[in-house]
Amino acid sequence: MELSALSSRELAELMNELGQPAFRAKQIFEWIHKKSASSFEDMTNVPNKLKEALEEKGYTFVVPKIVEVQESKLDGTKKYLFALSDHQVVESVLMKYKHGNSVCISSQVGCKMGCRFCASTLDGWLRNLEHYEMLEQVYQIQKESGERVSNVVVMGTGEPLDNYENLLLFIRGLSSEEGFHISQRNITVSTCGLVPKIYQLAEEELQITLALSLHASSQEEREKLMPIAKTYEIHQVLDACRHYFARTGRRISFEYSLVAGVNDSIEDANRLKNLIGDMNCHVNLIPVNPIKERNYKQPNRENILSFQNKLENYGINVTIRREMGRDIDGACGQLRKKYMER
Ligand code: SAH
Repeated sequence: MELSALSSRELAELMNELGQPAFRAKQIFEWIHKKSASSFEDMTNVPNKLKEALEEKGYTFVVPKIVEVQESKLDGTKKYLFALSDHQVVESVLMKYKHGNSVCISSQVGCKMGCRFCASTLDGWLRNLEHYEMLEQVYQIQKESGERVSNVVVMGTGEPLDNYENLLLFIRGLSSEEGFHISQRNITVSTCGLVPKIYQLAEEELQITLALSLHASSQEEREKLMPIAKTYEIHQVLDACRHYFARTGRRISFEYSLVAGVNDSIEDANRLKNLIGDMNCHVNLIPVNPIKERNYKQPNRENILSFQNKLENYGINVTIRREMGRDIDGACGQLRKKYMER
């Protein structure tokens, strides 16, 4: 049993069972969740006898280990490759902005959603991450970088709503006062649009931002880019988003990866206006990050700007995502994929 899997209450019960004073539970919990400890040795004020007793009872404390770091010379973006206890690897990213540092984490080992432009899904799906494996990506990046992490986006490899229970434990843990204590308003979860899960998430009384990967302006076009669109149609997805906003008051953030000649025309912008023009939302345009396995290209700068302009003129909030770490293995899943190929 992993010690970082335990809630503070479970840890308190365990200490009680071991005949330990209550403050030990708090000490250990803080080592894990506030001070980014990466081994028992880090827990300097915890007696060795107790560490041994824990190990005897079958408790381990093994955090995902950083096996590779790439740092961008352009903007300081850092990509991390973590090895998990079963030797699978996942990647995470640290991005430094004026308003604070943001970490992008993975939620699964691989992905089964099959989006055409995405590197993370090329080798399929292996397993879900445990909630503590998601937490530790944030903790260990803060420790390694020495930078306070203020924002977390679940936009790395995997479909977070396909790992729902762990995602919820992760969000609640990360935002809890006794834990890492990041405001839920600074946590974003990105989904390809698992409609029933969006309705479920709307009932959880969370303050997080939901980012929806739209990427197309019609059902037909979306199906070509995202297989999941065959299961949940674009209108169902948008209705779920409307419901999410109505229920939570949290504005939806739409992600729209611009692919030259595929979804970047003025007609696309017009159709997009008809689809979401009535919503209180934000559109994030992402010039597609080309992967060698597919022949998708970014539109030229002029086309990107006129697409943005068109939406702006319709009164839609829209930004172009700044490319970070362009000189390191950019697109999601590429670092992991390269590592596995080696
Ligand atoms: N499964 C979730 C979260 C992971 S992907 C989702 O689908 O939202 C995070 C975002 O990056 C998604 O919007 C995804 O479509 C986008 N993305 C993936 N690969 C990309 C690429 N090569 N170029 C641009 N955007 C990409």
